[in-house]
Amino acid sequence: MNLQFIDTHCHLDGEEFAQDRDAVIQRAREAGCTAIFLPAIDVPSCHTVLDVCAQYPDVCRPMLGLHPEEVRADWRDQLAAIKSFLIPHSSFLISIGEVGLDYYWSREFEQEQLLAFEEQVRWAVELQLPLMIHCRKAQNELVTILKKYKDDLPGGVFHCFTGNEQEARQLLEFPRFVLGIGGVLTFKKSHLPETLVAAVPLNRIVLETDAPYMAPVPMRGQRNESAFVRHVITRLAEAYCVSEEEICRQTTENVKRIFAF
Ligand SMILES: [Zn+2]
Repeated sequence: MNLQFIDTHCHLDGEEFAQDRDAVIQRAREAGCTAIFLPAIDVPSCHTVLDVCAQYPDVCRPMLGLHPEEVRADWRDQLAAIKSFLIPHSSFLISIGEVGLDYYWSREFEQEQLLAFEEQVRWAVELQLPLMIHCRKAQNELVTILKKYKDDLPGGVFHCFTGNEQEARQLLEFPRFVLGIGGVLTFKKSHLPETLVAAVPLNRIVLETDAPYMAPVPMRGQRNESAFVRHVITRLAEAYCVSEEEICRQTTENVKRIFAF
């Protein structure tokens, strides 16, 4: 079967891929993956993301931003450094990300996270780039900030969505935003398939790995990679009662609509 899909969130610049990145990209291509979007999480990863994307310009595209778990007291300096990358790379840059709020492990830098996120939302408006959003245990706070910019934002992805129907509906109230769906969909105890079918039309979903994390069943626990998206496609097709081709066609169309790609 000749499926073609896009992995919208993959930390392919990570050291987990240092030894065999070529082979990983080769397997991705063979599986039908036509593009891989790489999110930065901090200043050093802006360098590594741009390096990998320069090495594989036909497949890899960069996203730049400060991840909420990397926000500390010095967030203003970090953002200034990241902002200096944006303009020189704006023609190649696909999104601001990954940015957002994460109160799962700690609320130590809660205020700093809020300020850093809002600043990067303003970049997205300024540069008219979509947002790649990471959110854990902070959806209400996140939605409050995004609402202020709702009409001006070009769109984006709520990456690694794992919430319930009500949370899905709240996020989909932002026009031009979609949910990023990955390996969690395939986990045995996941309610995500039922949630998606009940609350999320297929034109509001994009595919992702979040590699090296979140490998789908039957690869669960292993290092994730873009080729494994095929397992997510299979599960989505089952859940929505459509063909795998239809999942690929619709999710690729969604990516093209949101990203200038
Ligand atoms: Zn990520």
